[in-house]
Amino acid sequence: MITQDSIEALKARLDLVDVIGSYIELKKAGANYKAPCPFHDEKSPSFVVSPSKQIYHCFGCGAGGDSIKFVMEYEKLNYPEALEKLADSYNFSLTYTDNKHNKPRSQLMNKINEWYQKLLISRPTAVSYIKKRGIYESSVEKFGIGYAPDSSSTINYIKSLLFNMSEAVEMGIIGYDGERNFARFIERITFPIHSANGSLVGFGGRTISGHQAKYVNSPETALFNKSRLLYAYHHAKQSLHKTKEIIITEGYLDVIMLHQAGFTNAVATLGTALTAEHLPLLRKGEPKIIMAYDGDKAGRVAALKASKLLSASGFNGGVVIFGQDLDPADMVNNGNIEELANMFRSPKPFIEFVLEELISLYDLSNPKAKESCMLDAISYLKTLSPLLQEVYKSFLASRLGLNPSFIKLRQKTNLNSPILQKNSFKDIWELSLIKTTLEHPEFIEQILDVIDPSILQFHSQEFSLAISGHTNEPIIMAIAIDDSIKALKDDDALKAELIIFLTKHYERELKKINIQNSMSFEEKAFFIRKFRGKIAKLKRGQLVSFKE
Ligand code: ZN
Repeated sequence: MITQDSIEALKARLDLVDVIGSYIELKKAGANYKAPCPFHDEKSPSFVVSPSKQIYHCFGCGAGGDSIKFVMEYEKLNYPEALEKLADSYNFSLTYTDNKHNKPRSQLMNKINEWYQKLLISRPTAVSYIKKRGIYESSVEKFGIGYAPDSSSTINYIKSLLFNMSEAVEMGIIGYDGERNFARFIERITFPIHSANGSLVGFGGRTISGHQAKYVNSPETALFNKSRLLYAYHHAKQSLHKTKEIIITEGYLDVIMLHQAGFTNAVATLGTALTAEHLPLLRKGEPKIIMAYDGDKAGRVAALKASKLLSASGFNGGVVIFGQDLDPADMVNNGNIEELANMFRSPKPFIEFVLEELISLYDLSNPKAKESCMLDAISYLKTLSPLLQEVYKSFLASRLGLNPSFIKLRQKTNLNSPILQKNSFKDIWELSLIKTTLEHPEFIEQILDVIDPSILQFHSQEFSLAISGHTNEPIIMAIAIDDSIKALKDDDALKAELIIFLTKHYERELKKINIQNSMSFEEKAFFIRKFRGKIAKLKRGQLVSFKE
């Protein structure tokens, strides 16, 4: 079991905005952050994250909780698995009550990585590959390039370290085919892959023995999610914050060679297209994005997809397409660095690129094809902001040789829908009282002395939940996170508000007595005196006990 102390220490290190922001895109909204809810299907964002309270809440489906709860729900993990996942991505070592777990999880990965690196220089074929590609020794060191030998050497090495083979399988170093274990990387140049904050999470490997798969990556593991990671991001981080630009390429070698040539803000996707899951990482530091793609068919298709995604998500930047046989790595190796710098200085803006690529797919001399092209382009333009739609409408019209009035666009639906639920009445005073009990539990006793949950007209159920400590209930979280509801700031404010509320309450009660038919005259007289007495006290500025 994980010790409670280390759970607390981990929690103290987590920032909810950072944790959730690494999964989905959050947009600042006042003191909070908002996003479309990842737990239910919706168009307008009702998912709110509060940095000050470190809780999230969805006003649509009621999902809510802290960092650990989010990771559990999002990744479908149980509590200890979520803790381990978070500990891994924050480079934090959990301690366990039993000893067998107490080996930090990343030790095996790091040991294997060091071993691969040592092996590199002892393999002439590996060394000659490195030389041929023009990779400097300093780059071999910076990127930790190594060499994975045959399968049995790797298995024997792990055994010699006394690591459990199942752990090596879990880390994606070793595979299991139902009968025997095998190394995932055999006779390959290895490129260690790190998370955004620099912990080793997997490997990429390029064959040097003519294996039919030129490149392989670690399989998806608890740590390795290739549609969220970017190769060398931890190396590029500083430079991209300084230059406010990031270059995204398609290959490990492109990245290594670009860094070698001084483009230290280069990263790569891991043999996959750019996905929406990459966007939170790309949003950090708000850099301009330069997509550097091959000019072949696959490269152009990937560039088109990425440009649609990035422009629709409001990113700034553009595309650089390389000639058929020259990728960035080759250009650096051939010394064409000035030419590269020029290309990166003037990328084709995403929206222009998308529209031109779309147009190039159609034969515009055919009116039918021209119409399809226009519809295709319009449906893309609709993913953009109204202003950009307007600007690019005439661009599209001129490219198609049409009058702009043919380009019919509808405005994007307004995303600023209120986060408050539609059909339930809200009494702001009662909600503010409930918020006060959440933010100042020390006032609860004093409040309960003069108020019973039953006298709240609209939110007595929420009030009962709040004062009994049910702060994980969705409705209570909704109140906690809603910044339009303010807690009373101190004792004096609380007293003043309670006096006003109670005066109104007893005046209402008094009226009710007067119209009561089922009470005897004596009973009525008793209650009338009682309520009048209370109201008089309240008017003198004294709080009256509920039970009195
Ligand atoms: Zn939801």
